[in-house]
Amino acid sequence: MDVCSMSSEKTSECPKCDSVRMRKYACSFGDNPIKKYVQCLECGWSKELERKEPPKHYDHEIQPWDVINEWKLDFWAGNALKYICRAGKKEGNTAVQDYKKAITYLEECIRRDSID
Ligand SMILES: [Zn+2]
Repeated sequence: MDVCSMSSEKTSECPKCDSVRMRKYACSFGDNPIKKYVQCLECGWSKELERKEPPKHYDHEIQPWDVINEWKLDFWAGNALKYICRAGKKEGNTAVQDYKKAITYLEECIRRDSID
């Protein structure tokens, strides 16, 4: 499935023609991860936007979202994994709180897989 979405979000000027008629859009081709682009509507210049840096509490080379993407986990399993990964590492959250959140998502996984 190819997914494309456009955003009317204001972007900066085109580095090539200085036009401010810029648009941002996101595209995903087949099973590839979604990539975001910025494009100039005047001259057609475009570039891929850098993805956001992961939050500090995921300070590892392999990020949960890479695992979630690679293993094609759904929303609920992905969130469970995310909370397990960050348990005890995020300021203001105890490990127990995060494990409990992971359980909440796992319970939803079980509930969804139990529906015939
Ligand atoms: Zn331009």
